[in-house]
Amino acid sequence: MQRLARPLLPEPALLPVTALKGVGPKLAERLHRLGIRTAEDVLLHLPLRYQDRSRITPISQLHPGEEAQIEAEITGAEVTGRSRRFLLCHLRDSTGVLTLRFFHFSPAQEQLFSQPGVWLRCFGEVRSGYTGGLEIIHPECRRIGVEETAVADCLTPIYPATAGLQQFTLRGLVEQALMQLDTAALLPELLPLALRAQLKLLPMAESVRLLHQPPTDVALAELDSGRHPARRRLAFEELLAHQLSLRRLRQRVQQQAAPPLAGEGGLSQQFVDRLPFTLTGAQQRVLAEIAADIAQSRPMLRLLQGDVGSGKTVVAATVALRAVEIGAQAALMAPTELLAEQHYRNFRDWLQPLGIEVAWLTGRLTGRARRTLLERLAAGEIHVAVGTHALFQEAVTFANLALAIVDEQHRFGVHQRLALREKGRQRGHCPHQLIMTATPIPRTLAMSAYADLDTSTLDELPPGRQPVKTVVVPDHRRDAVIERIRQACRSGQQAYWVCPLIDESEALQCQAAAVTVEHLTEILPELRIGLAHGRLSAAHKEAAMTAFKAGNLDLLVATTVIEVGVDVPNASLMIIENAERLGLAQLHQLRGRVGRGAAASHCVLLYRPPLSAVAHARLAVLRECHDGFEIARRDLELRGPGEVLGTRQTGEQTLRVADLLRDQDLLNAVRHAADELLRDDPDRVELLIRRWIGAGVHYGEV
Ligand code: ADP
Ligand code: MG
Repeated sequence: MQRLARPLLPEPALLPVTALKGVGPKLAERLHRLGIRTAEDVLLHLPLRYQDRSRITPISQLHPGEEAQIEAEITGAEVTGRSRRFLLCHLRDSTGVLTLRFFHFSPAQEQLFSQPGVWLRCFGEVRSGYTGGLEIIHPECRRIGVEETAVADCLTPIYPATAGLQQFTLRGLVEQALMQLDTAALLPELLPLALRAQLKLLPMAESVRLLHQPPTDVALAELDSGRHPARRRLAFEELLAHQLSLRRLRQRVQQQAAPPLAGEGGLSQQFVDRLPFTLTGAQQRVLAEIAADIAQSRPMLRLLQGDVGSGKTVVAATVALRAVEIGAQAALMAPTELLAEQHYRNFRDWLQPLGIEVAWLTGRLTGRARRTLLERLAAGEIHVAVGTHALFQEAVTFANLALAIVDEQHRFGVHQRLALREKGRQRGHCPHQLIMTATPIPRTLAMSAYADLDTSTLDELPPGRQPVKTVVVPDHRRDAVIERIRQACRSGQQAYWVCPLIDESEALQCQAAAVTVEHLTEILPELRIGLAHGRLSAAHKEAAMTAFKAGNLDLLVATTVIEVGVDVPNASLMIIENAERLGLAQLHQLRGRVGRGAAASHCVLLYRPPLSAVAHARLAVLRECHDGFEIARRDLELRGPGEVLGTRQTGEQTLRVADLLRDQDLLNAVRHAADELLRDDPDRVELLIRRWIGAGVHYGEV
């Protein structure tokens, strides 16, 4: 009944951008590059900034450094310059004189600018010229008649553009699309009136029009900072759409059946009892949260957060046993072969004594061995499978997969995560899912990017951990640093030396790990030095890691391949070169490779001077702070959400209008609105998702 009573929602036209006048295949292709596919997308492509062309400034009132519009008469022109020709055009109005300077110009321009008496309207940045007077380099110019007086009656938008796409083309398209805004053929209002009233949100059409054509008396500072109510209205709607999309996916997953993992817990208890340590309070609490969740007959969707070294792996193994003890299987997926192998060794060492079959499914496994393994997996003879995403290839079937654990999720990105979830689904039922992040994510980010997951947090480190003492040292003191390695290794400790890039030709001045090894071997002949980087064959890389772990190497030179998860408790010294190039979370993650044993550990952040003020501030954060949650918060402030969530690396589509940092105060309201809409108004939910996320993005159909 309620469905009938609701007013019909406007069905927005998914008008392809080619339906706009003047958009052929070539222009459409360029627009696609900006993410513009429909006429609505044109309107959601917001200006980067604005110019004020509503006034004509007399030349005498111009100030260097300011953008201005002038009207003046040509008094003469000349082409000069020896090695490089340029065109100077001299102008005057009734108040003063000014020069236009062009480094590139067409014969037609040369001809136009050489006609004394012609009037021009020009817009550009005024600067002090080489000869003392004022000039404008490459202004936008238009010839005007004597009578022309009309100037823009609103601010002029400057759009994000791409090669071969001019501002005036974008402006023209926006103008066309804006005409259809009034008839509500495009971007009809989708937010319920009550919600808009409650949050004081401007209407959609009004907001869009204002952002594309702001009146000249608009609060420009608010517009520029992205805090104008019109922009906030759009940001709210976009964040809401993303929230809805993830939450709807969650709903759909949770409508499926999952095997309740509600055994006695005997096996997992046995495992915990055999550990050489007792679980931290946080580990116990988190395990209880998870146990309650997986006892349900709908899939768990849970994020396990914890600082580096907080002991996520033990939690994962304990949870895996809850699946095994009822005769089902568990899978653990890691982002790299290296990490998968390490997990495999851990799980094997922990679980085999309990009579549990653990298998490592690597991409390198081929032929007969691979076939046998797949058969055993399909027959249920293997209880726990560890691997990379190779685990979820089509050929892989599980007899009875009840739990999928994904480690260091961070590296995957939201869309990949959802696609993987899809692959984990087998034969009409859906496994429980536990996602573990490499480093903590600030709450605001977790609230939006992981809106489909519940969260458990390990907020306590195992006892006895000493903070890693961190120093920031300029590159030219590396001799002293090398001496320090000699001392440490002589006393039986092990050290890492991390070089961010492996190839000197990669233009950035990063040290090549291979060169570093040669260099260090020369200076430290008494040490056993190994090398691990991403371009070595897997066998070589593993041999080095294994030797290091076994204590057969003193010093391991590596790229950031060791960033996630590697666990060698005897290593207590870490040198990170070019530290200024890495993100805070990444540095914290790297640093977390030491400080795992009883010995006091040290981390040396080497940088190449000069250091910018921001870079300095970032390294200082690391020196002073050892709490991954706090570091993540600062990282978010310093570098923005794209870096923190890893979406920049994966090239994933990010937000168009909203900015998770700037607009984080909207997120609570977004969540509440999402709750209500999902409950009361599923049609609206569909339309909002379609508008902002589009039909093109499939999170994997569930
Ligand atoms: P991370 O959360 O970074 O993945 P790990 O699971 O690799 O952390 O654990 C780091 C180290 O701490 C491992 O050597 C692990 O065996 C050890 N560990 C885990 N839990 C405890 C505990 N409760 N007490 C002591 N050591 C622990
Ligand atoms: Mg780990």
